[in-house]
Amino acid sequence: MLAYTYLEHGRFELLDKPKPEIQNPRDAIVRVTLGSICTSDLHIKHGSVPRAVQGITVGHEMVGVVEQVGDGVHGVKPGDRVVVNVETFCGECFFCRRGYVNNCTDPHGGWALGCRIDGGQAEYVRVPYADTGLTPIPDGVSDEQALFVGDILATGFWAARISEIKEDDTVLIIGAGPTGICTLLCVMLKSPKRIVVCEKSPERADFVRSHYPQVLVVAPERCREFVCSHSDHSGADVVIEVAGSDDTFRLAWECARPNALVTVVALYDKPQVLPLPDMYGKNLTFKTGGVDGCDCAEILGLIAGGKLDTTPLITHRFPLRDIDEAYRIFENRLDGVIKVAVEG
Ligand SMILES: [Zn+2]
Ligand SMILES: [Zn+2]
Repeated sequence: MLAYTYLEHGRFELLDKPKPEIQNPRDAIVRVTLGSICTSDLHIKHGSVPRAVQGITVGHEMVGVVEQVGDGVHGVKPGDRVVVNVETFCGECFFCRRGYVNNCTDPHGGWALGCRIDGGQAEYVRVPYADTGLTPIPDGVSDEQALFVGDILATGFWAARISEIKEDDTVLIIGAGPTGICTLLCVMLKSPKRIVVCEKSPERADFVRSHYPQVLVVAPERCREFVCSHSDHSGADVVIEVAGSDDTFRLAWECARPNALVTVVALYDKPQVLPLPDMYGKNLTFKTGGVDGCDCAEILGLIAGGKLDTTPLITHRFPLRDIDEAYRIFENRLDGVIKVAVEG
């Protein structure tokens, strides 16, 4: 089968590999019908994910059809359409039982697919702990509608969930890349009074303006002043930082009003400074959290109910055999790309 493979620093290639097989009773084999490329795949390519294993098939955002299950799998069966979770988790440890699946203590837990074990930019993928790693897709929800549920939409949902948003709030979201837009959609479900999105790319700012006209959009240079004048208490009540650029962590807490909540979902290249003397008396609460894919069934329910739609993010579509071209477009942000869909 075709499998897009991490060969060495800077090099991915489409190879012919054997079809994966069940290795453990809790495994399932999924035929991938639609996948996507994530910024984390690019981090692997450029060597900034030290845990990534050379030779593995990349890709951790996908949907498909269950082909085969091990004896210990009870939640899904062959023929089921499923979302694959980016996280591998046991469902039984202290953290899993509390919904903190990102912190699963299983030695194989965490982001394994397409990083430490073969992922889904391929025709088939083996999913360990299939009962927790796969979520059935409701009838009437298409592959494109479900594509981001296991990764970037789970991230946005988690970010909105932990941010304690209330109806009188002004919420500032920093960054309107794919995860920023997923976060925006999940914040919109909480119906705060105002949402401001800060984005430096004019193209992405225009995307937000045209798709979500009720949202205010501002460039980083004007963000602080804009949020001050477009909020009830001279600053955002909730700030969600998704961008992860050099200056965006500082921007996040600077735009927050006193006693605000600042949620940091962004992944930074460098350590960030928490200048406590500068924020003395501001009484901020910080929360951090990357993807925590414990709400996939709830998210799929919202999609089925017409309350959540990430299909506008899919700006480009390619067959698996043309995945090199899909990467070229995505990596270089050509042609207004937000996300690409790769058809199996
Ligand atoms: Zn990802
Ligand atoms: Zn666990």
